[in-house]
Amino acid sequence: MLVVGSANADIVVPVERHPRVGETVIGGDHYRAAGGKGANQAVACARLGARTRFVGRVGDDDHGRLLIDALTHDGIELSGLRVTDDAPSGLALIVVGPDGDNSIVVSPGANARLSRGDLDGTGIEGAGAVLLQLEVPLGTVEAAASRARGLVVLNPAPAVPLPSALLARTDVLVPNRGELAVLAGANDEPASIDEAADLARSLDVVDRMVITLGADGAVVVEHGTVTHVPAHSVVARDTTAAGDAFCGALSVALLEGADLVAAARWARVGAALAAERVGAQPSLPTRDEVAEVAPA
Ligand code: ADP
Repeated sequence: MLVVGSANADIVVPVERHPRVGETVIGGDHYRAAGGKGANQAVACARLGARTRFVGRVGDDDHGRLLIDALTHDGIELSGLRVTDDAPSGLALIVVGPDGDNSIVVSPGANARLSRGDLDGTGIEGAGAVLLQLEVPLGTVEAAASRARGLVVLNPAPAVPLPSALLARTDVLVPNRGELAVLAGANDEPASIDEAADLARSLDVVDRMVITLGADGAVVVEHGTVTHVPAHSVVARDTTAAGDAFCGALSVALLEGADLVAAARWARVGAALAAERVGAQPSLPTRDEVAEVAPA
């Protein structure tokens, strides 16, 4: 598994209420954790037992060292991770309200410098599966998809309209509701499973898609055939990285030869376990934990 994407230091501050423009509010103690969709998805894959490589950039700073330590701790192969001296590490400032509602500012920093050239020597051509998101420059994502010879899974987050060549090279697209609406040029997010399936069908350049619907689970649309995969029922405490857990698990299952519906049924367990636990990378489950719920 090769993941090309972002790594961010998450700085999280709990607040009683979110500040208005021009206002200062006093928050609780902050904590710092490793995050970023790319790094989270790499950790998700590695914990599920896939031999995983990560291609990205961090700055030559304290946040960068935290990010490298976190990836190393999960046994991720980092020869494609570049420490860049022209930008600080990516940073996400996350303010979390009492109901878990959050406001986030992301400063991409080094992630914005990840270039097509950074793919050289990473072995991307030989990877069995390549997992991509959109927190690094779009040109780099396009180059990664076109150089990959294995399975290409794209989580189009954060959403932007995508060139049709990139969609055409994507084997499996994994948007959430809002991302699907942006890709399909719809004004509103799909409100039901049927609406999600209709929007997915309108993007006819992609044959295989899994739309994640939070607590409503996911919809698999494969060559026009629709299958609803309900969420695995848990008491959700923090859904941060549930989507990353889902994308990682789906990709690992596909790499191991599962069909798309079976892969989504396995991924829903990994995602639910991540939603049940607090934090981004700390909440991502191991293979044994998923197997306890969903024996192979
Ligand atoms: P994102 O976090 O990327 O917006 P979603 O909110 O759609 O993604 O969640 C991704 C997946 O995580 C869902 O398809 C579902 O399987 C799982 N999930 C999310 N929220 C819950 C929940 N409350 N209970 C169980 N599973 C959940």
